[in-house]
Amino acid sequence: MANIIDGKEIAKQVRREVRQKAAQFAKAHGRAPGLAVILVGDDPASCIYVSNKQKACEKVGIAGQTLRLPEKTSTEELIDEIERLNRDPATDGILVQLPLPRHIDEKAALDHILPIKDVDGLHPDNAGRLLSGRALLEPCTPRGCMELLKRSGIPIAGKNAVVIGRSALVGKPAALMLLRENATVTLCHSKTAELKQYTSMADIVIAATGKPGLIKGEMLKPGCALIDVGINRLADGSICGDADYDSAVQVAGWITPVPGGVGPMTIAMLLDNTLIAAEAQNA
Ligand code: NAD
Repeated sequence: MANIIDGKEIAKQVRREVRQKAAQFAKAHGRAPGLAVILVGDDPASCIYVSNKQKACEKVGIAGQTLRLPEKTSTEELIDEIERLNRDPATDGILVQLPLPRHIDEKAALDHILPIKDVDGLHPDNAGRLLSGRALLEPCTPRGCMELLKRSGIPIAGKNAVVIGRSALVGKPAALMLLRENATVTLCHSKTAELKQYTSMADIVIAATGKPGLIKGEMLKPGCALIDVGINRLADGSICGDADYDSAVQVAGWITPVPGGVGPMTIAMLLDNTLIAAEAQNA
């Protein structure tokens, strides 16, 4: 039976550390670090995520502000808002809540965020920095996965790691981060033939596919660590990950639950990224 990795508890530790760093920053600079979140439109899920981020900021001493723009905002108007925040010295981090309304050119807008304020770590400069070993701001979810592994004492160097999913948000950066920690990394995706061939040899599996129940216990190496990034809503309204939890928990040595695993870490790493951005701009 696997050890359950308690993402809520580990996220609490990270938030405690961020609170200390935020207090030191405020003492040194006479203001709290600032995070601006831009929400375009009123998608109900996005409204909840944004309000959670605002509350999380308040708890750790980050000055969070939410800018609510109407659904009909144009790409140019969004870029104007981003440029204004780029110039604002009290805004250390900028996050545009995704998804944006379909008429907005998402890439064009996000590329206008100053890389040093890009707390989501999605700007091409930050992606390139991660690739070339000079990372500054890294995507929050894969950072959260790495913290879960490290803080659970799971060895990474020299181990076989399999990442399933190749998005720019999760899979690709997770693979690069594992590689940086000297794992031997395989990146699987929807076109991978025989997924089990790879997962059954893996000491670490990070699953980020959005396919409920994809990873079954029989596909895993006994004792492995399974980090389940997936957030899938089932027909009955419940949330589950990419793992078939009941069978995976019997085989894995460590497993993250959904909810309560990677999810709380993503927001904790966003707060930490805001501190990294604030310190880098005020060094
Ligand atoms: P995405 O849709 O951009 O990418 C999914 C990836 O999974 C693709 O690269 C695809 O090739 C791969 N894939 C799909 N079906 C597959 C299969 N049968 N076998 C192997 N690979 C397959 O999604 P994303 O943005 O990377 O998110 C992935 C999941 O993680 C989603 O459920 C999302 O909700 C969740 N997520 C959770 C958090 C969090 O904080 N916990 C953050 C971001 C995303």
